[in-house]
Amino acid sequence: MLKMSKLAKAYYTDTVKTQALQPFDLEVQQGEFVAVIGPSGSGKTTFLNIAGLLEEYCEGQYLLDGNDVTGLSDKQKSRLRNEKIGFIFQGFNLIPELNLFDNVEMPLRYRSFSAAERKQRVMDALQQVGLASRKDHYPQQLSGGQQQRVAIARALAGSPAFLLADEPTGNLDSKMADGIMSLLKDINAKGTSILMVTHDTEQASQAQRIIEIKDGVLSERCAQAQAIA
Ligand code: ADP
Ligand code: ADP
Repeated sequence: MLKMSKLAKAYYTDTVKTQALQPFDLEVQQGEFVAVIGPSGSGKTTFLNIAGLLEEYCEGQYLLDGNDVTGLSDKQKSRLRNEKIGFIFQGFNLIPELNLFDNVEMPLRYRSFSAAERKQRVMDALQQVGLASRKDHYPQQLSGGQQQRVAIARALAGSPAFLLADEPTGNLDSKMADGIMSLLKDINAKGTSILMVTHDTEQASQAQRIIEIKDGVLSERCAQAQAIA
């Protein structure tokens, strides 16, 4: 579903080269829940941005659901991104001026869905996160945990192949964080793959796989051993 071979990334600023990610191989199958952990500055965001087609890689090959990303134009990349990937951010990134319905509908407007299909998808997604009755409310009328649920509905509405979540519970207290984790696990159980960056090792141990990044070097940890430890 997602296959990265010998991918690497360096940033160049003036004369300074920062090797953000050393060459790595990674395959994620449909339905997997993968946690990405590592210290600050280790390359997690770079990795997630490359996986999400938000950033270029320098070397290697990336196949996203069978599509070779190398050489695609920006337009082709946005199209692939809109179709295949749902994003969830630490800060929710909802639009304050739009009600929940319109927030969830927003990314669907860049796809070829009819108005009727968009409506159906928005309501199904809000239903799935338990907020259908709040569709006319605005983000600031919700708690942080509820706002993240709306962001998850927005990510799900386009039926993505996978979700990319960057510290999705980073702004939430532990009770709301647990609620978001169980929602993500439910979504994953229905077949959507998830790649989630987290600082929380207890949370990471709930994933099926743990990828650790240290100084730009990716390695896989045994999730089972981690859970026992
Ligand atoms: P993390 O998400 O794990 O904190 P990042 O992926 O943000 O790590 O950063 C990895 C490394 O790449 C760091 O050394 C960071 O300073 C560097 N880096 C990230 N973005 C840029 C950029 N746009 N230009 C130059 N260096 C960058
Ligand atoms: P938290 O502090 O845990 O984020 P809040 O105090 O913000 O929770 O919200 C508690 C409950 O009240 C939530 O169900 C939220 O949706 C609701 N709520 C908060 N503010 C408003 C508002 N201005 N209008 C309608 N409902 C609100």
